[in-house]
Amino acid sequence: MNVLRMESVRKVFGTHVVLDDVDLDVPPHTVTALIGASGSGKSTLLRCANLLETVDDGAIWLEDQEITDPRVDADDVRKRIGVVFQAYNLFPHLSVLDNITLAPRRVHGVARREAEDRALALLDRLGLRGKAGDYPDRLSGGQQQRVAIVRALATDPKLLLLDEITAALDPELVGEVLEVVRGLKGDGMTMVIATHEMGFAREVADQVCFLADGRVHERGTSAEIFGSPREERTQQFLRRIT
Ligand code: ADP
Ligand code: MG
Repeated sequence: MNVLRMESVRKVFGTHVVLDDVDLDVPPHTVTALIGASGSGKSTLLRCANLLETVDDGAIWLEDQEITDPRVDADDVRKRIGVVFQAYNLFPHLSVLDNITLAPRRVHGVARREAEDRALALLDRLGLRGKAGDYPDRLSGGQQQRVAIVRALATDPKLLLLDEITAALDPELVGEVLEVVRGLKGDGMTMVIATHEMGFAREVADQVCFLADGRVHERGTSAEIFGSPREERTQQFLRRIT
């Protein structure tokens, strides 16, 4: 069973077709990279998967549940999906520990002690030991983004969606965040990653989808897409960006 499945997903803003007949299968313990020019629909695809956008046609499944069924409780679905965006979006008035434990405690009803134990273990694993009591503005951008990843993991999600998580970082801070994603892949986390870091996509992705104008223009293994892309448009994109 796939962790995520999209079938013929269509999303329209006004007259603009942003996702057109998109199919996607994400098997457990795999990494899918979404690549493509700005405006090709990567973020919208991730937002549809997390029910931050409603689809206009098609269907999406999270494991065996069709989450585009109108009777489905979106909050319940989001509990099972971790999301990290480009801007870290930490709450500035909360400590690192409170940022991480807020959702487990408030949304999932986990006891404070249990939530904090898990948070501290995750911070430790992501190289943030000792930062639990700090406020976000005391941390570097790379550290803040790693805290955002810990926060997304704190609810033990089935699926992690990462949207350009290094795009807002100074170049020297990108590596530490990518290293965390590498570690998560090693742990078997199922992830869908929108990224402009082609070297990284090539390295970690099991499946690569090249989006153009809201369509999956070409898909394949990392070796296929980066090694010998079939479509002219994919070749052009990769020539420009790498
Ligand atoms: P990407 O993440 O690949 O850069 P997006 O999914 O953000 O692409 O955007 C795809 C297209 O959808 C763009 O043309 C963008 O302007 C448009 N778009 C995204 N969100 C909205 C919105 N809320 N309303 C109208 N248009 C939007
Ligand atoms: Mg985007």
